[in-house]
Amino acid sequence: MGSLAGRTALVTGGSRGIGRGVAERLAREGALVAVHYGSNREAAEQVVKGIRADGGRAFAIGAELGVPGDAQALWAAFDAALAEHGEGATGLDILVNNAGIGAHGRIHEVTEADYDRVFAVNVKAPFFIVRQGLDRLRDGGRIINISSGATRIAFPAITAYSMTKGALDILTLTLAQDLGPRGITVNSVSPGIVATDINPWLADPDAHAEAAAYSVFGRVGRPSDIADVVAFVASDDARWITGQTLDATGGSSLGV
Ligand code: NAP
Repeated sequence: MGSLAGRTALVTGGSRGIGRGVAERLAREGALVAVHYGSNREAAEQVVKGIRADGGRAFAIGAELGVPGDAQALWAAFDAALAEHGEGATGLDILVNNAGIGAHGRIHEVTEADYDRVFAVNVKAPFFIVRQGLDRLRDGGRIINISSGATRIAFPAITAYSMTKGALDILTLTLAQDLGPRGITVNSVSPGIVATDINPWLADPDAHAEAAAYSVFGRVGRPSDIADVVAFVASDDARWITGQTLDATGGSSLGV
């Protein structure tokens, strides 16, 4: 029996990258996992297939985030899929707000449209996913927001993106206070640079070496590095941690 047996989890953006790693890890711990995707259904179905092949339980749900009605569409898809594939399971225990997009550019390069888009996907969507999911989330549950080390380390080239993660951390802090009486913990997990599709520039060997040098361990992060931290936060062992941001950057930019 895994540490999350009997629990139901929803991982937004579970079809690729960090979210995929999180979905697979939570499923290995015994959770029934809703693997959310935006447009790449095939990728989400592959994740579900892999989880089932390993003896886990999962199903895919699609909903584009960052557009009007996104949270409503996501929960409608979740409810319908849970009724179909959940073997009687109802409600939710673990919500991982992972789906997100980047936004490159120093402040003078960011357009209003870029700004609105990154805030719509990275901040507004998780806010309303939580708001509309609260009556589904069971007491004693978990909300885990995937933030970024860019809230601790200044990267002028991604100012707007970093601001979205700062906002997410404040959501974490504030919700933790609000949901404490229900025994629900709310935490952020902040990755450093992780090798996923969001960072295509890592294909350049020089850029890769520069990124690896940020971590005291001298390498770029892997989705499993982050998934293992999320699994801990999701577990009963982390019951006394709430309102926190867990730095999972491999000790990036710790000092001179
Ligand atoms: P990724 O490989 O690009 O995967 C992004 C995931 O989010 C995909 O599953 C994608 O779904 C989904 N998604 C993106 N935009 C969406 C939208 N508008 N509507 C619905 N779903 C959408 O990214 P990642 O690197 O794993 O990043 C995951 C999270 O970690 C993000 O919040 C990111 O900001 C954060 N993070 C990443 C790094 C890093 O270096 N990788 C560092 C710090 C923080 P589809 O497959 O359908 O497109």
